[in-house]
Amino acid sequence: TPAIRPLVAGNWKMNGMGESLAELRAIATGLSSDLGQKLDAVICVPATLLSRAAETLVSETVRLGGQDCHVKEIGAHTGDISAAMLKEAGADYVILGHSERRTDHHETDELVRAKTEAAWKAGLAAIICVGETATERQEGRTLDVIGRQLLGSLPDNVKSDTTIIAYEPVWAIGTGQTPTAEDVEKAHAFMRSELIARFGSEGAKLRLLYGGSVKSANAVELLGISNVDGALVGGASLKATDFLAICEAYR
Ligand code: PEP
Repeated sequence: TPAIRPLVAGNWKMNGMGESLAELRAIATGLSSDLGQKLDAVICVPATLLSRAAETLVSETVRLGGQDCHVKEIGAHTGDISAAMLKEAGADYVILGHSERRTDHHETDELVRAKTEAAWKAGLAAIICVGETATERQEGRTLDVIGRQLLGSLPDNVKSDTTIIAYEPVWAIGTGQTPTAEDVEKAHAFMRSELIARFGSEGAKLRLLYGGSVKSANAVELLGISNVDGALVGGASLKATDFLAICEAYR
């Protein structure tokens, strides 16, 4: 199988006002060296920052993403933003089905699947998140949960250039806790085999990110695990130095 180009994605969540654009600029500058040749990088900023962030990026070393989109393209949906709007504002990616959306906004696999189709239609690549809660893990249901979420959240015609999977154990997000390398390897090997079973050679090429308390201190270990093709980074994506230190794992 051909080598998969790594992707390191940042998720700023509901953080980042105008002054944060300096961090974005610093990330772009840091990746304009040979480091940027080794990976794809995307920062998913709050929607309010997208157009200014797009103007801020002087190089092509960093792409922009949104953190959610509506299933519809346009219409009476107060407070929502469509994939086409994200695209117009400068996004090339969108995170879908993040555990905070699944919890705070009761998003289901079916909805995530519909949003994925909407993202594709607008020309965005979808970063689709799956992952078990602490309780599900204690009950030994980790792989069941991931398998069900993958099955339900992914449409049938998945292409590896517009679909990225992020495995994010809910209990590892923002907690400083991470699974063991062995547990990550097991989860990613499971996802790979499920994806190949369903999508054939496209499944073999899909990028599988690990997310949950990734930082510079654990990046080399986590990103070195087989079938881990990058990271989805929350807290450590807010500062350019932290984000770039994680990207250094691929130098
Ligand atoms: C996330 O929210 O996608 C995430 C992985 O957060 P953190 O890196 O802060 O755990």
